[in-house]
Amino acid sequence: MPDIRITNCHVHTFTTRHVPVSYPFAFLRPLKKVPQLVRFIAWVLAMLGQHPLAEKVRRLYDFQKEAAAPDQKAVLRNLQRHYPSNTRYVVLPMDLSAIGHGAPPVSLPDQHDELSRLSHDPEVGASVIPFATIDPRADPQATELARALDDLHFKGVKIYPRLGFAPDDPVLMERVYPKMQAENLPLMTHCSRGGVQGRDTTDYMANRFTDPRAYLPVMQKFPDLRICLAHFGGQYDWKSYVKAGPDYDRAENWQVQIRKMIGSGDYPGLWTDISYTLFHFEDYIPFLRLFLTADTEAGERLRARTLFGSDFYMTRQEALSEKAVCFRLRNALGEEIFRQIAEENPRIWLGEITEPTRS
Ligand SMILES: [Zn+2]
Repeated sequence: MPDIRITNCHVHTFTTRHVPVSYPFAFLRPLKKVPQLVRFIAWVLAMLGQHPLAEKVRRLYDFQKEAAAPDQKAVLRNLQRHYPSNTRYVVLPMDLSAIGHGAPPVSLPDQHDELSRLSHDPEVGASVIPFATIDPRADPQATELARALDDLHFKGVKIYPRLGFAPDDPVLMERVYPKMQAENLPLMTHCSRGGVQGRDTTDYMANRFTDPRAYLPVMQKFPDLRICLAHFGGQYDWKSYVKAGPDYDRAENWQVQIRKMIGSGDYPGLWTDISYTLFHFEDYIPFLRLFLTADTEAGERLRARTLFGSDFYMTRQEALSEKAVCFRLRNALGEEIFRQIAEENPRIWLGEITEPTRS
């Protein structure tokens, strides 16, 4: 059997220079400036016998250290250590300039430019699949997005509605999706109740913008657009599902909703990725395995629409490493399904190959 060429559909290489200095709270500024301080706090907690908390703080230190890397290439190199050398990575930038915390030290055009240089780097460039990003409030004419797609030849678009805009924002509906559908470019979007949120965006609104159903008008108008709802609904909804909470098996649970929407076959453009969520591996893998191995039409559709992704370096906050999760996943799902979600499906979603007809 030839070896698998993995495509990790969801990673980040942006650094603290791409984040407003006062995000999320101005009082955290000193902590962000001196990551060593976090390490010191972890040490004090360990000394006081607070081991689980000390462990969490230590992981926060690892996370901050990653974010404090000098450039995107340094982050990528740390990521590459976890995967076979032929692995490819969809790199997703972030625009945090319009979330009410001031301008980040480095602008989005500069972030795009650096990512473009990374994708042409003689050492690591071949492993990088660069995506562009847009916050419609920061780029109402979508000019920077058009520059990234037309001049820098980026391979897709990432959006993050939780920051404070709807997926059917007029800028996206009129200037972004028509172009993407015409040029066969995929869309990646954050779909979890956790993550970054605009300062003036309430939880209620952030959840409304992030809800899988918020994409119904988009899919109706752009049936050929390939939309990936990242994180398979997210940690919170998986936890609630597993604990059989009040939304168990109901439409309010985003994990259930995504499975039902994809399984129905009514939305062939809808995809999902398992990034971040599956880093709580032991809790969720039995369920994922059952969903992906189901011998039903819905199961087959879900297998054909699930993407392998990790969400590095957000995962530095979790106990298991990228490598550990990747191997466990391959082991638990079996070679055939792992190959489908990590090699074949990403190529179809990226528009590199067309979908095979399955019997
Ligand atoms: Zn992410």
